[in-house]
Amino acid sequence: MPVEQAEISSRVAEEKVNLLGLSAEKLVAFFAGIGEKPFRATQVLKWIHQFGVDDFAQMTNLSKGLRNKLRELAEIRAPEVVNQFDSTDGTRKWLIRVDGGSCIETVFIPERDRGTLCVSSQVGCSLDCSFCATGKQGFNRDLTAAEIIGQVWIAAKSFDSLSPKADRVISNVVMMGMGEPLLNFNNVVDAMNLMLHDCAYGLSKRRVTLSTSGVVPQLDRLGDVTDVSLAISLHAPNDALRDQLVPINKKYPIATLLDSARRYLERMPDTHRKVTVEYTLISNINDRPEHARELAALMRDLPCKINLIPFNPFSGVAYQRVSNNALNAFRDILYKAGYTVTVRTTRGDDIAAACGQLSGEVNDRTKRSQRYREQQQTIKLIG
Ligand code: SAH
Ligand code: SF4
Repeated sequence: MPVEQAEISSRVAEEKVNLLGLSAEKLVAFFAGIGEKPFRATQVLKWIHQFGVDDFAQMTNLSKGLRNKLRELAEIRAPEVVNQFDSTDGTRKWLIRVDGGSCIETVFIPERDRGTLCVSSQVGCSLDCSFCATGKQGFNRDLTAAEIIGQVWIAAKSFDSLSPKADRVISNVVMMGMGEPLLNFNNVVDAMNLMLHDCAYGLSKRRVTLSTSGVVPQLDRLGDVTDVSLAISLHAPNDALRDQLVPINKKYPIATLLDSARRYLERMPDTHRKVTVEYTLISNINDRPEHARELAALMRDLPCKINLIPFNPFSGVAYQRVSNNALNAFRDILYKAGYTVTVRTTRGDDIAAACGQLSGEVNDRTKRSQRYREQQQTIKLIG
């Protein structure tokens, strides 16, 4: 067997490299490894992310020889779409199966002036926040970078909105689906870099948001590698209450988290940036006027806007959704204290457009559909 053929055959025996999740730098390294110039990475990046191509044969600006080589060594493989649901209000949800059989979900929410995609970072979550269905399902595994960016790839393809940029339907991405993004640091950063890269999705860093429940050491690391928008899931104005709702608070209490968020902002070149503070309002738990006043005092030194999220009940949880009166009173106290306050509205009711509410551990079809029916009852609010 000629040497070259022998080399290729032995590589075929190994697993193919999935180019979908490779950041621009890793793609350059991949091409260098097979003796190709860096501009090949740019070409392939555009084919994959701007034209939605997953077949090397269609990459017409690559030589036939290189296309054949790529077919032998690599693949472009997105996770499998099990189902796509369309709401009458334009919200779209995908149920996506990842390797190993677990399912995640991704939600697209169109608004007047933007289209936001809510992306998952893990199958399940280990942080066990008491009001979160994903947390209650436990942790299964981290998503790969290909599985994370694959959600954007799938959504963009479904709207046929990959190129040109001006017509893109997806203008914003929020890492607010299933999982804690900072606990899957490297894969999330690689995927976010693709969201931002001009030869991939070209989104502005202001329009890519990472939401965290407060993994402080990783939040400090995040500022070393990116300056995407930051959202922190606070949900309580004092440690005693937050310890109950967000257990990681026992390890990294509120003051530590706010300091870290402040440091993150301070490192940004652009001085007008703000952190989004997410506050899920749960009836008679954290929704009283005194909580609002305490929150207003707490946030004084952090440039922020506050996003109030009415709690979304799900089966097996004792908490209840905030009443409209309590929600309005809470919002008004913050508003009068000078904060920018937004309230997340419910979208996609009819398709249960719950962001990140699917179980990661279900592997058999029966359990999965049973769990899925359960999830149909839950609506996690995103905006
Ligand atoms: N793990 C990250 C991102 C995923 S959760 C985080 O916690 O920030 C995205 C947002 O949805 C978080 O602010 C989370 O607190 C909120 N959330 C979780 N469960 C919810 C529920 N049942 N109702 C309303 N919001 C919920
Ligand atoms: Fe995990 Fe976020 Fe849910 Fe907490 S709210 S359990 S961190 S996904």
